[in-house]
Amino acid sequence: MSALIVEVVYRGIFQKNLAARIARGIVLSARKSGRWGIAFGRYGDSPQRNGIPAKDFAIVADTKEELEQNMARYEPKHTDVTVVLDDTLSKGVESWAWYGLQPINRLTVPNGTVLMTSVQPFEGLLKDIHKRDTPYKLSLLRAKASFSGLWVHKEDHTEARILGALAKIAPHFLTLDGVSEAIQEIEWGSDLKVASARKAFERLETREVKITEGNAEIPYSFEMPKWWEMREGVTIPAIPVGKPMEGGKGYVPERNPYFKKFTTRTMRPVIDFDKCVKCTLCWIQCPDSCFDVTSDGLYDANMESCCGCGVCEAVCPAKECVTMVSEAAFEDNASQWEMWRKDKGVYQTWMTNKIHSKEHITRSHGFRFRGQYDQEIKQDLDQGGIEIITGIPGENAAGKQR
Ligand code: SF4
Ligand code: SF4
Repeated sequence: MSALIVEVVYRGIFQKNLAARIARGIVLSARKSGRWGIAFGRYGDSPQRNGIPAKDFAIVADTKEELEQNMARYEPKHTDVTVVLDDTLSKGVESWAWYGLQPINRLTVPNGTVLMTSVQPFEGLLKDIHKRDTPYKLSLLRAKASFSGLWVHKEDHTEARILGALAKIAPHFLTLDGVSEAIQEIEWGSDLKVASARKAFERLETREVKITEGNAEIPYSFEMPKWWEMREGVTIPAIPVGKPMEGGKGYVPERNPYFKKFTTRTMRPVIDFDKCVKCTLCWIQCPDSCFDVTSDGLYDANMESCCGCGVCEAVCPAKECVTMVSEAAFEDNASQWEMWRKDKGVYQTWMTNKIHSKEHITRSHGFRFRGQYDQEIKQDLDQGGIEIITGIPGENAAGKQR
């Protein structure tokens, strides 16, 4: 008797439907493979915000009794497979539902698997994924992160491909035939998606990760107050007033010292300070009070609190002054203004490298102008992508309603 525990780590709102499809798809695939299964979301993630890391879980067991035994826990403490639906989650995850930064492989059991959609090389991802004291496997499905919205779904077959990959990773629980049968039957399924799942099964790339590999950074954490340190009743203190910067000039707003928000981000703003006209719009419009007003009257986005919404880029009136760049292109949260102030030439080279790389500025979600989606689809096709002409929403939905 044994069980397979899978967590699906996704970006709140943008991938909510995708994660639910995968978790439910695992359960149906389990039934088709002669196993028992259940899927559930993490309760605490319920009030999601755009991009915030969140989790669904699926458990598959050989017998009903074993499934019930696993369900007796509030949520799994260890997982055999960690499915990661966006490779920028490699830097770790912070959410409404837990405290501090969790390395993406934190719950994965020794010799378990982290399964990720990514076009980055293994080595690039291992610069971000935290080291751990037991080996594990990293499996990659070659794909860009699939982003959509709360009520919509991007029909790029990611859910089917993840299920095909899981059949390769855990064949005892999910057979490829079982997965194929489930995809054929499920309301979002189609023959084309079955073919995608089978291709993902064949093409999955897997590599062992040794304990010496990975990001050595100690993840951000904080001590929870003890019960005797808590104040009476429920009180929410107001945000204190911020502080001036050097020599009484500038202004640094007060920020939440416990909840950082940066793992919510898939892109971050890069600022060309030489183009800034000091209009204040980014500072006023940023929903997370990220901007420090610097002592020379410029605006420096604090990278620990930026959630990557792109509002600053949208409101900035100066041409090419703020550019959103993929989070994968950065290795720390250091101040851009400090770098610019220290050596403008070095900053110019650094910034040019980030904002002129097509790979870095391709948006993971959201659009800057009308027609951008059509343009991106065309680009994908020009680069050898295959146009999806069947299998679009709910090909099997009619059958389900009967
Ligand atoms: S992307 Fe810009 S507006 Fe959005 S949180 Fe970050 S700094 Fe603020
Ligand atoms: S919106 Fe642009 S130009 Fe205006 S202060 Fe911010 S960075 Fe400078």
